[in-house]
Amino acid sequence: MTQRETVAVIGGGAAGLAAAVAAAECGDRVIILERMDRIGKKLLATGNGRCNLMNSGPLAYYGETDIVRSVMALMGADAQRRFWNRHGLALREEDAGRVYPATLQAATVLDTLRFTLEKLGVEVRTGVRVTGLHRDGDGWSVETESGRVACDRVIVCGGGKAQPKLGSDGSAYALLQAFGHRLVPPRAALTQIETDTAPIRGLSGLRVRAGITVLTGGGRMKQERGEVLFTDYGLSGVCAMQCARWITPKAELSLNFLPGWSGENEVINDLRHRRNLWRSSPAERLLTGLLAPRLAERLLEAARVTVRERTAGSLQDGELQHLARVLLDFRLKPTGVKGFESAQVTAGGISPEAFDPFTMASELAPGIYAAGEILDVDGDCGGFNLMFAFGTGILAGLRGRESKDGRKIG
Ligand SMILES: Cc1cc2nc3c(=O)[nH]c(=O)nc-3n(C[C@H](O)[C@H](O)[C@H](O)COP(=O)(O)OP(=O)(O)OC[C@H]3O[C@@H](n4cnc5c(N)ncnc54)[C@H](O)[C@@H]3O)c2cc1C
Repeated sequence: MTQRETVAVIGGGAAGLAAAVAAAECGDRVIILERMDRIGKKLLATGNGRCNLMNSGPLAYYGETDIVRSVMALMGADAQRRFWNRHGLALREEDAGRVYPATLQAATVLDTLRFTLEKLGVEVRTGVRVTGLHRDGDGWSVETESGRVACDRVIVCGGGKAQPKLGSDGSAYALLQAFGHRLVPPRAALTQIETDTAPIRGLSGLRVRAGITVLTGGGRMKQERGEVLFTDYGLSGVCAMQCARWITPKAELSLNFLPGWSGENEVINDLRHRRNLWRSSPAERLLTGLLAPRLAERLLEAARVTVRERTAGSLQDGELQHLARVLLDFRLKPTGVKGFESAQVTAGGISPEAFDPFTMASELAPGIYAAGEILDVDGDCGGFNLMFAFGTGILAGLRGRESKDGRKIG
């Protein structure tokens, strides 16, 4: 008979809770060490309180993505769906493969995990910050601010640096760096973009559907389409946030306010139709019915189309052409991105290169495992980050033992 092992899980976030459930289901004695006063704080804030916990569509990950393919082959959306179903969490899929709890409440996901941990006898210690990991004979000694915890294995799920008020302050990186694991400099991702504000003055609070292309040195780094929210510092909204990780000092943004349109000819034809439609009305009404008046005013200005004391009918073809270009390619200079305080996720982190992708075991420190956002993998909005955290957490908890939900591991 195999001996019951003691596993210390560092961090009571998505990855840590999933790891604890999987390990306890395999018969391990599990202790969760969480620095905040309660577990799952960030989980409650996810998806605007609805918790978009996975995505059944094509994978959208960045950073060191080799590991993602292995993890998702074993513990992807189907296996995670079975995991949740087995633990009684009803799911609901919305557009673009986004999966939520059927209740549309993040608290339901946390309750499912909390009560499962309770049922499995997992010990949860909150208000405990882990400061070091030390070899202790065949096992490990976990150093905390309030004493040491002896265990056979340690699963490090301390998250990245995004939203430290919810717990993840980057302090867990050092726990793995101490054994030679490489840290890829962490950067804020899925966050708001700060821009030159003069071209968008007066637009704060306006929400539009648009395309954004991040350009650097003539090349396209990233193209996104979706909701853009103008703010007094720049751009927010899912579309802008997904572009944030590509912002560099040389980057420029190209906004397309007619993203579904076929191109310049279609727009020019439409502008001609509008010129005719509003021919005896003030020229500033040209874009009525197409764009919000505040935005129309800024775009006419950017296209250098003078509207004062003119009728729409007096606008020249050349002016319409300029305007069409601006509608499809409105340039805006980013000046930076909002920091970790407002980021949803961290790009960078501990390189997964020295972790076994099937068990998440460290190849540098046997008995140490890692899972979740602490690793150099980040995903788009839409459930990808939680799916990676839960998937790697379950694999680390199983560490090669047979999964009830996915294929046999290891
Ligand atoms: C506002 C917001 C909304 C989001 N919405 C979504 C969404 O809808 N879908 C999605 O897929 N992703 C979403 N994300 C991203 C997602 O929440 C994270 O990628 C995911 O929670 C990462 O899980 P994790 O367990 O790896 O890290 P975390 O959830 O950050 O958990 C790490 C835990 O470790 C603890 N800890 C850290 N260091 C120590 C230490 N030294 N000692 C003890 N404990 C420690 C922390 O307190 C924390 O509880 C959102 C993020 C935010 C901030």
